[in-house]
Amino acid sequence: METIGIGLQGRLLEVRHRIAATCAAAGREPGSVSLLAVSKTFGPDSVREAHAAGQMAFGENYVQEALAKIEALADLRAQLQWHFIGPLQSNKTRPVAEVFDWVHSVDRLKIAERLAAQRPAGLPALNVCLQVNVSGEASKGGVAPAELPALAAAVAALAPGQLRLRGLMSIPEPTDDAGQQRAAHRRLRELLEALRQQGLVLDTLSMGMSADLEAAIAEGSTIVRIGTAIFGAR
Ligand SMILES: *Cc1c(COP(=O)(O)O)cnc(C)c1O
Repeated sequence: METIGIGLQGRLLEVRHRIAATCAAAGREPGSVSLLAVSKTFGPDSVREAHAAGQMAFGENYVQEALAKIEALADLRAQLQWHFIGPLQSNKTRPVAEVFDWVHSVDRLKIAERLAAQRPAGLPALNVCLQVNVSGEASKGGVAPAELPALAAAVAALAPGQLRLRGLMSIPEPTDDAGQQRAAHRRLRELLEALRQQGLVLDTLSMGMSADLEAAIAEGSTIVRIGTAIFGAR
């Protein structure tokens, strides 16, 4: 992807155009897909620059890096939305429960229980997605599809004032094949539809990254998580 020369705000505009064009082609409302700017490894100044161009939601993967960045951007706290999207160990849940608005990467009940227990009273419920291992890669995080219904039911039953289950997230195995991209994203959408059949009220499909956002939107994504195409190569 060509990222040299047009600057961060230009790249952000390009990504917005890709989202709008894909929504138009798919017959979807442009407002039905939100853009999460994945700022991992980029400093607070890059976040400020994106914010100045109207971007409010940012995704982070590493707890320590994120806490430092959020602190450095404290003056913008009321305007920014912070989403934790990386692997989460149980000994790191407390700061995540205390400062983030969303967690996309919950893949076991213990993590959800800790986030719910540690969410400070007085803050809105923490929005969470369950990460699903749609490609069956042994090395990847995420709950296996066969175990998803039980996990979703258990997480949905946790204190709703502390934690609100919103939907599903995936990081499929990278491929350049548009058909394979679509198939992996379709699998996540079908899993969400099955949970709705089960009676859960869910509105979020967090899927699609820089290389496959078109396939993800065509299959129903409601949040695309875009790093490289906005901030440049890591
Ligand atoms: C890094 C990351 C992204 C962004 O990936 P790009 O290919 O840079 O757009 C999205 N989601 C997760 C979970 C990530 O770790």
